Amino acid sequence: MITKTIALVAHDNRKKDLIEWVEYNRGTLSKHKMVCTGTTGRMVETALNASKKKGEAAADVTILKSGPLGGDQQLGALISEGKIDMLIFLWDPMQPQPHDVDVKALLRISSLYNIPTAINRSSADFLISSELFASEYVPKQENFSSYLHRRIDV
Ligand code: PGA
Repeated sequence: MITKTIALVAHDNRKKDLIEWVEYNRGTLSKHKMVCTGTTGRMVETALNASKKKGEAAADVTILKSGPLGGDQQLGALISEGKIDMLIFLWDPMQPQPHDVDVKALLRISSLYNIPTAINRSSADFLISSELFASEYVPKQENFSSYLHRRIDV
């Protein structure tokens, strides 16, 4: 079985949704590694370990800084380093966020590096139930060489 590294992030109004989704998919998620922003990560870890049976290993959850305190940017850096296989990011469409630029940056970088990204619960359902979820899948990367070698007059 292929172990994936799944990034999980939810804004405060979406955390209930994410935790319900995590609990529902506990069996599948427990076979993979998770990387989360701070508050989301602590909730995910609690949810996964609360229903852990005796003798079962604890969920593999890496907890970064809280999103608005740099966690979204840490996650973006990990994506650019090829260390994240997919992103489940339940962002809040009804509330402005103090770290809106970081939110945009995270969505931009996931798009740039072509990693599977779910932005709501139904798309997260589609991702986790995909045949590709637990198989080897390398997202096609764009060739940035013409950008990297662009001419800059100085
Ligand atoms: P949090 O951050 O998990 O620390 O609440 C989420 C976010 O990026 O806003």
